[in-house]
Amino acid sequence: MPLPSTDTVVLYPLGAENPESLTASAVVLHVQPYGDGRELVLLDRTPAHPVDAAWPDQGPDRGTILADEREQQLVDVLLGATDGTNLFVGADVPVRRGTEGWAFVVVHVLAEPSRIAVGDEVTVTVDAAHRRALSVGHTLCHLASLALNAAVADRWGKPVRDDALGHPDFDHEAIQSSTIVPNGSVDVFRLNKSLRRKGFATDGLDGALDGIRDAITATLRDWVATDAPVQIEREGEGLSDPRFWVCGLPDGTARIACGGTHVSSLAELSAVSVTLETGDDAGTGTLTMRCSADPH
Ligand SMILES: [Zn+2]
Repeated sequence: MPLPSTDTVVLYPLGAENPESLTASAVVLHVQPYGDGRELVLLDRTPAHPVDAAWPDQGPDRGTILADEREQQLVDVLLGATDGTNLFVGADVPVRRGTEGWAFVVVHVLAEPSRIAVGDEVTVTVDAAHRRALSVGHTLCHLASLALNAAVADRWGKPVRDDALGHPDFDHEAIQSSTIVPNGSVDVFRLNKSLRRKGFATDGLDGALDGIRDAITATLRDWVATDAPVQIEREGEGLSDPRFWVCGLPDGTARIACGGTHVSSLAELSAVSVTLETGDDAGTGTLTMRCSADPH
């Protein structure tokens, strides 16, 4: 079976008001055994968001594939890449997303071999409630990174790159991992020597944490109260085409590169809360920011 030569067309960036962002018909391009008795299916288009092993902030969608009146659960949705000869999946993908000569594909994983065949028309349906909770969490995560950057801006003694709102980009300089959870996010930042060398003052941070948390919370509540629309801008329909999260905030329009899913408006978030905690990871100081919101 030939492997696809172009990216999977992804429908999840269309946003929740477009039904195809959650359920859509598609044509099967490739089927093969995968792992322990499982099977993978490649389609020409899909509403299912895959986890990207290179930066796994937003996990896979949950959902089903309906083929020939038989519905099967998606046990995973992964990012894959093919050079036309081999298909690499998840952590085995050897190239960066968007590399010339490669097609980037959404890999739908089934628990067991199916009767799905190349050329079949199937319907993929995503679990809407789980998607919504991840979209709430992901939009909140972007807002919180901007609010954190603003709250610690006075700790920088040297110039570093600015964030989308013109504050020193602490998030970019210090992020270790970012995890989107239902209706929230967990970001871990490294407070290491290299960050201090770049000019960030970590002294007295522990004692200042409550004040920083309160500043972030107040900023987030102000922003959420504006009900500002959120848009996903994209340069093409393919999986690896650049996409941007765009939100008009009182302090300016924020535009952040992002491959995930988002709410359509900040009116969908309420009751925002934030915690900050310092810690230690094998001798390196860390700062963990946990955010949550109620979907509205
Ligand atoms: Zn993002």
